[in-house]
Amino acid sequence: MSSDNTSHPSVKYCVDSVNAKYIHGRPEPELVPSRYALKVGAIDVLVVSDGVLSLPGAMLGHNVDPSVRAAWLEDMFLPPDVLEWALNVVVVRSGGRTILIDAGMGAEFPDLPRAGRTVQRLEAAGIDLASVTDVVLTHMHMDHVGGLLVDGVRERLRPDLRIHVAAAETKFWESPDFSHVSMPPGFPDALRRTAKRFLHEYQSQLRTFEEKHEVAPGVLVTRTGGHTPGHSVVRLASGSDRLTFAGDAVFQVGFEHPDWYNGFEHDPEEAARVRISLLRELAANRESLVATHLSFPSVCHVAVDGDVFRWVPGPWEY
Ligand SMILES: [Zn+2]
Repeated sequence: MSSDNTSHPSVKYCVDSVNAKYIHGRPEPELVPSRYALKVGAIDVLVVSDGVLSLPGAMLGHNVDPSVRAAWLEDMFLPPDVLEWALNVVVVRSGGRTILIDAGMGAEFPDLPRAGRTVQRLEAAGIDLASVTDVVLTHMHMDHVGGLLVDGVRERLRPDLRIHVAAAETKFWESPDFSHVSMPPGFPDALRRTAKRFLHEYQSQLRTFEEKHEVAPGVLVTRTGGHTPGHSVVRLASGSDRLTFAGDAVFQVGFEHPDWYNGFEHDPEEAARVRISLLRELAANRESLVATHLSFPSVCHVAVDGDVFRWVPGPWEY
């Protein structure tokens, strides 16, 4: 590596800089911006990657025989043990409001070091935290609220920020039931702790809704339940364009195997019902889908394939 790597960056230096937040006291631009902009009619949408989560392969279907799961992973050219899950958040602009949908993992989890980039990547996209008027939470798992708990973030958000979340979700986390999940050790405690801290720190800014709430023109958050009791999806509609941000209702394996139980689902049977009915609806009305843990930028369509579904990735629009 060159000793004068400021003026003549070596390849090694550039690769290292991907992981470095600050070089010489200034934020260092990343090699890959990890954001993808699109329009849904008059609504601006920006998908931002928070990074990736490395999780055990068993998480994607704990109700199936391990050999069946292993065969699926092999068919998908995926490793058998640890899977890299994408972690996407979305920024939506409509009717003069700037809405952040979910907030990523934050900085509290050293075992998941490749996630937690949301704030840095919003800044890189020119989005000032103070410009965010609303946050919508699909649910209160730590990979969706953690970004709001990063040191210094709360102070930079506007005092009149509104955080929309289903009333069933805040109620659930008062005394959460983990009896039907199948998570790696340590996760239930971390999830409980994070949700509790989030409720404590942001209590005064929460705006709860029962079943649905229109956050801005054409931006409708709708409770589905299943993954968690207050799990919600965000439906965007403008002119004849439609896009749904499905949060954790849909995972990659869920197109081909919608009845596989994800380890993070608190009510896996209901989560499977929610997934199947949402995928059926999206296939029927041909709208776009973006989901938290689908490979970035995750913009895709859903097709019916016999009894199950097929994932149809959208074209890269540049
Ligand atoms: Zn999640």
